[in-house]
Amino acid sequence: MSYKVSLIPGDGIGPEVTDAAKAVIEALGVDISWDVVYAGEPALKEHKSLLPEETLNSIRKNKVALKGPITTPIGGGFRSINVALRQELDLFACVRPARYIEGTSSKHPGTDIIIVRENSEDLYAGVEFKESEEETNGLIDYINGISAKKVRVPSAISIKPISSFASKRIIRFAFELAKRENRHKVSCIHKANIMKFTDGLFLQIFRDVAKDYPQIEANDVIVDNLCMQLVMRPNEFDVLVLPNLYGDIISDLCAGLIGGLGIAPGANIGENIALFEPVHGAAPKYTGKNKVNPTATILSGVLLLKHLGEHKKAEILEKAVANVIKKGESVTYDLKPTRTDPTAVGTKEMTEAIVEEIKKGLKNV
Ligand code: NAD
Repeated sequence: MSYKVSLIPGDGIGPEVTDAAKAVIEALGVDISWDVVYAGEPALKEHKSLLPEETLNSIRKNKVALKGPITTPIGGGFRSINVALRQELDLFACVRPARYIEGTSSKHPGTDIIIVRENSEDLYAGVEFKESEEETNGLIDYINGISAKKVRVPSAISIKPISSFASKRIIRFAFELAKRENRHKVSCIHKANIMKFTDGLFLQIFRDVAKDYPQIEANDVIVDNLCMQLVMRPNEFDVLVLPNLYGDIISDLCAGLIGGLGIAPGANIGENIALFEPVHGAAPKYTGKNKVNPTATILSGVLLLKHLGEHKKAEILEKAVANVIKKGESVTYDLKPTRTDPTAVGTKEMTEAIVEEIKKGLKNV
């Protein structure tokens, strides 16, 4: 069977890690024709747009995409193209598995958590007002007029919308995923003790939806307490469902638990479109240095293959990655005992080692 998949190389280390994912998928013999399209800074030059229609149309048509990370300027400049892509394509669920791989420096063998992050609203909705602008002061006047709590003038404001529609959709998605993947527990993560109307709504909907899944244990944990518990006893967690911002932060924490961002894959899922990308960003200081770990993007490729129904090939790829990491020889700096270990190999060499393991795996089929 042949597939057409959109490919956004991204910027920074993006092109290197997406090349690695392409190479291992090719070695598996899965026939994918990559429709290469651009977003972010690389798209500006050619299309005079950070998120060209051509890119969105390619993904809408192919319904599956692999994406490298895209830089977002901090403080000023344009808003995140990663967030814009998820919103434009209504990729409402961000799924990030954090599973222990033998051979990493993780102190928590057995960790196996799936993060289900709401992708479309919360503080990431992009409704923000700059300090001292006329409309911001007007908004503050309005709030101070209707609320017993007063906002200091001048202030910058970010709005945190949480809707019952989006909360129901993501929470049901998390329970359905738990059912499909034979997971036993879904934990709702929130700060409803402080944000009674936003996180409170999310928690209330979680409790309602959980009643439809009596076979799955459901509990809730306040986000700060979760951070402490995850660091001490990650094995007690299974599937986590979270609003957008907590989901982003907890994803990186969980990546740290399993040995770092270099091995943490992800998927953004909508009603009929799926876009796969690593949890990590563009790591600009390593651009073009053949330095970073390709595993996170390669494992995002494993998720992509499963999504296409190529389960056998996905299994071979996952095993090939696990074998290379377990042997610990042909791995990048982040998987060595120290970050300056002279035996660390580059992105390309680690990818080649995975390809060699794929060849062995294919022979055993
Ligand atoms: P980052 O994830 O790019 O890098 C943080 C650090 O993690 C790196 O310095 C490096 O030490 C390590 N790291 C990341 N990827 C690695 C890999 N594959 N192998 C080994 N080590 C790796 O986070 P940042 O520095 O906060 O962000 C850089 C840029 O990326 C920013 O512009 C940010 O907005 C963007 N970003 C994009 C995405 C996305 O495209 N989905 C996600 C996160 C950040």
